[in-house]
Amino acid sequence: MRRIAFMNQKGGVGKTTTAVNLGAALASLGQRVLMVDLDPQAHLTLHVGIDPTDLEAASVYDLLTDEGAELDAVLRRVDERLAVVPAEVNLAGAEAELTHAADRQRVLRHKLAPAFDRFDFILIDCPPSLGMLTMNALALADEVIVPMQAQFLALQGLSKLLETVQLVRGGVNPNLSVAGVILCMHEPHTNLSREVVGDLHAFFEQSADQPVPWAGAKVYEPPIRRNIKLAECPSFGQTIFQYEPTCPGARSYMMLAQTLLAESQAEAGSADDQADAPQAPQLHIEVAAPPAPPAPSPPAEPEHSEL
Ligand code: ADP
Ligand code: MG
Repeated sequence: MRRIAFMNQKGGVGKTTTAVNLGAALASLGQRVLMVDLDPQAHLTLHVGIDPTDLEAASVYDLLTDEGAELDAVLRRVDERLAVVPAEVNLAGAEAELTHAADRQRVLRHKLAPAFDRFDFILIDCPPSLGMLTMNALALADEVIVPMQAQFLALQGLSKLLETVQLVRGGVNPNLSVAGVILCMHEPHTNLSREVVGDLHAFFEQSADQPVPWAGAKVYEPPIRRNIKLAECPSFGQTIFQYEPTCPGARSYMMLAQTLLAESQAEAGSADDQADAPQAPQLHIEVAAPPAPPAPSPPAEPEHSEL
């Protein structure tokens, strides 16, 4: 089972669109998928047709702030293999309430632990910040995927994000790694995007054998191009596969889901190989200092901090 946090401290980059549609694609490929909405804007919740202003219904807010709240009271089925832990509009308040909780970064992990063997994927949609909600996502996840655009300022944001993941791996969650980035609203034919994608590939290649959480990270294929259908479907409370299953956006997310599944199968295969292989002698290797995250190229426009 894989637990993936879709994380980027910038808003509007494609986190929610990716969590929802990748989740739906994985479910249609036979995987049992749980999506967790950790954004007070509750866009994922809306996207799957659940009303986040219905305060009668339990939500991730209850899991985070009420010790007695249990997962089964919160979890909502979207279809046979797809379930959601919805957000609600006052989730922002949980950020402050959590500051007094014991083991406050692991609250969500403890609450979701009973579901680990009931799902093949848990996909967590993070808010656009690096606060306590995102920390709970990073304590729960074992992988981070970064939806982003191929723009200069995005690289600067990425290095900040990687620093955060490294801190979490040094403390709350030693198993956390960065699986890679997904290029969203991608425009492959501009010089700028080609240059940034080239920088990303170079950076990940350079990090491949370093002791950093993003060793082994990649630029996922295919990128998701700009497709108006993907922007339309949330307002109908539908995934792209319910709304327009043959559009380019749907096809791209389906291919990405297949990429993720192929990764899982390769991982399972190599775990079997390791179990069978004779124990190799242990080598002691001196490791050089990790490379610094990519230096941003000069910004094309004034920077606006999202934090
Ligand atoms: P985030 O969760 O990072 O804030 P969203 O997934 O909500 O980002 O995407 C931001 C906006 O862009 C939304 O209105 C969404 O519908 C739209 N969008 C996302 N991906 C695409 C795409 N590939 N093509 C067109 N619009 C998109
Ligand atoms: Mg979002």
